[in-house]
Amino acid sequence: MSNLFDAFRLTDRAERVAIVLQNGISVTYKDLATLAGRIARNLDDIGVAPGDRIVAQVEKSHLALALFLACLQRGAVFVPVNTAYTLQEISYFIDDAQPKLVVCDPENLCVIKSTVATVDPIVLTLDGDGNGSLADGLSTATFNVEPRAPDDLAAILYTSGTTGRPKGAMLSHANLGSNARVLKDMWRFTQDDVLLHALPIYHAHGLFVACNVLLLAGGSMIFLPKFEVEKVLQALPKATTMMGIPTFYTRLLADERLTPALVHHMRLFTSGSAPLLAETHVAWKQRSSHAILERYGMTETGMIASNPYESDRIAGTVGIALPGTEVRVVDQENGREVPRDKIGMIEVRGDNVFKGYWRLPEKTATEFRPDGFFITGDLGTMDERGYLRIVGRGKDLIISGGLNVYPKEVETEIDSLDGVVESAVFGVPHPDFGEAVTAVVVTKKNFSMSQADMLKVLAVRLARFKLPKNILVVSELPRNAMGKVQKAELRRQYRGLHS
Ligand code: AMP
Repeated sequence: MSNLFDAFRLTDRAERVAIVLQNGISVTYKDLATLAGRIARNLDDIGVAPGDRIVAQVEKSHLALALFLACLQRGAVFVPVNTAYTLQEISYFIDDAQPKLVVCDPENLCVIKSTVATVDPIVLTLDGDGNGSLADGLSTATFNVEPRAPDDLAAILYTSGTTGRPKGAMLSHANLGSNARVLKDMWRFTQDDVLLHALPIYHAHGLFVACNVLLLAGGSMIFLPKFEVEKVLQALPKATTMMGIPTFYTRLLADERLTPALVHHMRLFTSGSAPLLAETHVAWKQRSSHAILERYGMTETGMIASNPYESDRIAGTVGIALPGTEVRVVDQENGREVPRDKIGMIEVRGDNVFKGYWRLPEKTATEFRPDGFFITGDLGTMDERGYLRIVGRGKDLIISGGLNVYPKEVETEIDSLDGVVESAVFGVPHPDFGEAVTAVVVTKKNFSMSQADMLKVLAVRLARFKLPKNILVVSELPRNAMGKVQKAELRRQYRGLHS
């Protein structure tokens, strides 16, 4: 069974609920199978062949998920893109992916059509309520599943890391299938689970980690268009599990309606896509009696490591390599493994690791070691028990006066100051040091420490070269939709500090 679509066994689950929409309507597995089959039929009718790309910039809906399933069924390659992307960005993806079909929001139809002169795909529409020309033109005939080889592509997801132009990560049916199977088993998902799904589905977390795992298990999902505290608090009593990013947890913690009674029935809370502060982990445990299970992954690799389901979920760590995934921490210069607890580059190999960057064979070659390990770009440590800690992106490493400063280490000390909510540390150009360690901090209202006061405390804990040259108080950190702090944006904003 190589087509991932078959693994979901939609028709076997017929009357079970797959998705509960915000308006309370339930979409059964049979409904989903019917929709996917009809869309797949339509794809075939309009000339979409196996291997053709389908770019989708659409709001979250059960039809958007059915479109993904239809692409699998047809053997086409699904290319979901962030709904926040601008016209300029979307035209870059269309030029690069050369799709046969683009599905966009009806509101964007004219602009999309005007950008696609060079490629000329078919353009159909779909809005957040599941309406549009994609849904209108559906025939009642269904479609058989196209056989696929394990290495055939199922999706391309554009990812930019922290810098550079977005690159299309090519993910095969085997990549997605193996990762979903491992996570379903690891996190004990069954058909009795109800996942509170408040993540976007244009990203690997919301689509491949959340939807694929639940569909594989035969469970159901409460689909919220986006994360809103009010809506999440209302839905929690009906859920058994929630997959989140750290900001979900900090926002819920800030609401006094989060009580043990509200969540005592829950089976599992997971977090990923950005670092979960150890403090948030501890605070969540105190308020809800649940230890958040933190995991680590990236678009190119799917999930890499996870804290265990049964034994210790250690705050500040992203857990242990998943079964079938090899992880090593190496010296960036010579590629040799570093001793336990020493910082190095995280590298990974396994069925989950992608096939390379779309139309960028040279770039792909530089990101892999000759023995097949993928260089993640994340710096971290591994302890005796195999638990990984992420220290930051390699590109975020600051080199000040020739010495390496790991932002995470400085952030941890700043965060421990009384009255600091969170911080971000990054390097900006400095005439003397090359780069100057710089910090921005978000503080509580009653915070009264000056920069000099903060530096006095930090000077006891950090070597002199690691001390920030500037600590600036800001109202919030710039974050993207997945909760990642945008360090490139901070570097850009403050690059003139020392010029
Ligand atoms: P993306 O490709 O958008 O999923 O981003 C992947 C990157 O997110 C990784 O390379 C890490 O830098 C970061 N990331 C994902 N999960 C975690 C985590 N649990 N802790 C820290 N960073 C994470």
